[in-house]
Amino acid sequence: MNVKQNLEEINQNIHKSLESAENDTQPCVIAVTKYVTIERAKEAYDAGIRNFGENRLEGFQAKRAALPEDAVMHFIGTLQSRKVKEVIDQIDYLHALDRKSLAKEINKRASHVVNCFVQVNVSGEASKHGIPLNEVNEFIDMLSQYENIRIVGLMTMAPLTEDEALIRDVFKQLREKRNEIHKLNLDYAPCTELSMGMSNDYEIATEEGATYVRIGTKLVGKEE
Ligand SMILES: *Cc1c(COP(=O)(O)O)cnc(C)c1O
Repeated sequence: MNVKQNLEEINQNIHKSLESAENDTQPCVIAVTKYVTIERAKEAYDAGIRNFGENRLEGFQAKRAALPEDAVMHFIGTLQSRKVKEVIDQIDYLHALDRKSLAKEINKRASHVVNCFVQVNVSGEASKHGIPLNEVNEFIDMLSQYENIRIVGLMTMAPLTEDEALIRDVFKQLREKRNEIHKLNLDYAPCTELSMGMSNDYEIATEEGATYVRIGTKLVGKEE
């Protein structure tokens, strides 16, 4: 399937999800290009996609260099603190702010305010990155000292399971936490966005109010 057809199908599914949902927030689709070539990423650009996600430094820099200027680049993986210096000024949105040491390094190295999502480990699985749900307030409070960090929203990854109710519950808890932080009216943490949903669960995420879905396999595919 070409990217354009995949995108049409995804947009139709998003549309259907919103018809049955209580919210009418249209999520922005980020094409996760970590499994595919530069050519495939360019095909996504030509299909009209302007938001791209990569989880590794090399892939991120290769796509950033190859895509036109107006591509909005999302870093969605764990960023090593020692790599921050090299890449921070190329990142439009960082989806995985998950520790103080990273925040400190970004603050020191960035030449502008960086849009960040705090990654939250809602499900509490030991294997997952992210701030536990019950420590998010404290973490965001701590970030107020870093003038180059702006918390645009929260991000999570749902557990790998067939249990839709469980996935939905994870997304709902993230939305409620987003609402709670947003209501604090913090200048440095407007916290309006929700980055949640991937190939297998973007429809549930859409129903639960995602503002960004991150789709790899079902949009651009996966090349081994
Ligand atoms: C790989 C990845 C995705 C996309 O995964 P697919 O299942 O291929 O859609 C989304 N978010 C993050 C953080 C990822 O690492």
